[in-house]
Amino acid sequence: MIKVKNLHGTADNKVPNGYVSWLAYWETKTGERATECMCIGCNVSGRANLVGAHVKKVGSLDNKWYIVPLCQSDNMRTDEFYVSEPLALVNP
Ligand SMILES: [Zn+2]
Repeated sequence: MIKVKNLHGTADNKVPNGYVSWLAYWETKTGERATECMCIGCNVSGRANLVGAHVKKVGSLDNKWYIVPLCQSDNMRTDEFYVSEPLALVNP
């Protein structure tokens, strides 16, 4: 697992061509299926309850943006929290 925090103000960050959503982007990049919130300790499941959230690694020199499936509630968090990997890198 890895510690992250949500990036806010990313609504303008458009989904790349060829993807219907950031959740679909994560699935394609990781080859996995989004079935549950990746936040450690969260039990929300069901793809319809998830969003492809923009996050940044905490305590790392890596300043890049990543996508990880989170529930609506965890997508709104302003603190730092742990998620399961993999993360999908948002291409610049
Ligand atoms: Zn959650």
